[in-house]
Amino acid sequence: MDCIFCRIAGKEIPSKVVHETENVLVIKDIDPQAPVHLLLIPKAHYPTLLDCDDTRLFGEIIEAAKDAAKKSGVDKSGFRLTVNTNEEGGQTVFHLHMHLLGGRALAGKMG
Ligand code: AMP
Ligand code: ZN
Repeated sequence: MDCIFCRIAGKEIPSKVVHETENVLVIKDIDPQAPVHLLLIPKAHYPTLLDCDDTRLFGEIIEAAKDAAKKSGVDKSGFRLTVNTNEEGGQTVFHLHMHLLGGRALAGKMG
């Protein structure tokens, strides 16, 4: 399958890995929207959030986000987790992933 995040998860394409767990890779976003902008990418392919019902995996993603926030030094200042889903949700890469944004005061509005 020609999926960029599958290829990143399989280490076929280089990325800046900041954290890794059994089923999740955490990398730096190539086009950062904040001083800290990480992507939490499950190693397994699910096109969108709606295609995954693995609650263990969801837990692992959230725990990885907490660890990555601590490693990146934004745990105390604060950060935001986002899962863009389908077109109007702003999803452009159709392999489930969560954004972790921090390092500056984020806009209060959600959209
Ligand atoms: P989304 O719009 O929620 O689907 O987010 C996709 C994100 O993937 C965007 O923030 C892109 O900047 C990021 N992205 C795309 N290609 C790469 C890549 N090769 N390495 C790191 N981040 C990427
Ligand atoms: Zn994929």
